[in-house]
Amino acid sequence: MGGDTLNEDKRIDMTRAILVTGGAGYVGSHTVAYLLENMGNDLEIVVVDNLINSYRKPGQKKPESLRIIEDMTGKTIHFYNCDIRDVQAMHRVFQNHLIECVIHFAALKAVGESVTKPLEYYQANVSGTCTLFEVMRDHGVHKLVYSSSCTVYGEPQRLPLDETHPTGAGLTNPYGRSKYFCEEIMKDLCASDKKWSVISLRYFNPVGAHPSGRIGEDPRGTPNNLMPYIAQVAVGRLEELQVFGSDYPTVDGTGVRDYVHVQDLAEGHAGALACFNKTEFTGFHAINLGTGTGYSVLQMVAAFEAASGKRVPWRVAARRAGDVAVNYADASLAARTLGWRARRTLADMCADTWRWQSTHPHGYAT
Ligand code: NAD
Ligand code: UDP
Repeated sequence: MGGDTLNEDKRIDMTRAILVTGGAGYVGSHTVAYLLENMGNDLEIVVVDNLINSYRKPGQKKPESLRIIEDMTGKTIHFYNCDIRDVQAMHRVFQNHLIECVIHFAALKAVGESVTKPLEYYQANVSGTCTLFEVMRDHGVHKLVYSSSCTVYGEPQRLPLDETHPTGAGLTNPYGRSKYFCEEIMKDLCASDKKWSVISLRYFNPVGAHPSGRIGEDPRGTPNNLMPYIAQVAVGRLEELQVFGSDYPTVDGTGVRDYVHVQDLAEGHAGALACFNKTEFTGFHAINLGTGTGYSVLQMVAAFEAASGKRVPWRVAARRAGDVAVNYADASLAARTLGWRARRTLADMCADTWRWQSTHPHGYAT
């Protein structure tokens, strides 16, 4: 079980709480920071994270991301070092706090690794999610914001991708399928009991960092994603970027994606939480979080060079298996329902990433 502050089967206080699973990770930590910076003292944040993809300094109780957020905000985060699949530990978390709703980030997310370790991915992402839902149900908690992904759309049949685009067809890896399966499970759950309110946020490509530069993305090992890879080349940790394919039918032949600032995503989660007070938000709702604009790999490189003042050497490599040519969101549903719009520009995304990367060349372990 291994809960740091998991003491006994008693609520340690009765302030209303939001449970954030995976809150020590990249998107989770920025959302926790945003909520603490913007909400009143009548709500507390409880984080459950097994630290499989987040960093804790030797001798510290809390992971570095959360420790820094506490320092930035002057507020306390209740942290449990436990796995969402640990039923007993999860029950104790719900007994210890008056949890009103859950933001569920915890998952394994490396696409390539999911192909070689499908069982681990389905275990963590699908079984873990079911365990969380059982525990929520047992404690009468039915409000959930889920971290989904544009990957559920598979190969786009039309662009931009809106929420009515079919999901589940042509998914090329267990990671993507695990996100799709979880959405289907949540639909069944909502159909089975009208008490459930689920907002599944389909992120496009999260990038960027907190404007302070104190928290950011800290991938283990060599990054799989474009932006952290570029950032590590710029800071001198990696030699050159491999551009996966230069013969796509795009502006310059390289893949196009909808990059969205992680601070905008954090605001999207806050918008989703606010919706739980409205009756029309019972049941299952899938909502895209993207900007609606796509940028190519080489446009990203140019923008990063401009923001950082560093050169980012690159060379063309073969296409990466499973990649689509172009992908970008229709984000109008988020505007209509959450009142959310991505506000930050590509220059902001690059500048904020660089502020974090240049001051933390080795991430939190720097
Ligand atoms: P991340 O790996 O940085 O954060 C996930 C956190 O969950 C980590 O701190 C990890 O230690 C924790 N975790 C993993 N399995 C756990 C388990 N079984 N029990 C408890 N904790 C566990 O990832 P992220 O980029 O912040 O992504 C957060 C969520 O958003 C994930 O569900 C991911 O699938 C989804 N998502 C991410 C992206 C992206 O590109 N970052 C895109 C779309 C969707
Ligand atoms: N990409 C690349 N080199 C890399 C990583 C990614 O050329 O080292 C490309 C990739 O082919 C895609 C885009 O950058 O066109 C975004 O890839 P990422 O893995 O960040 O996101 P996803 O493929 O999940 O949208």
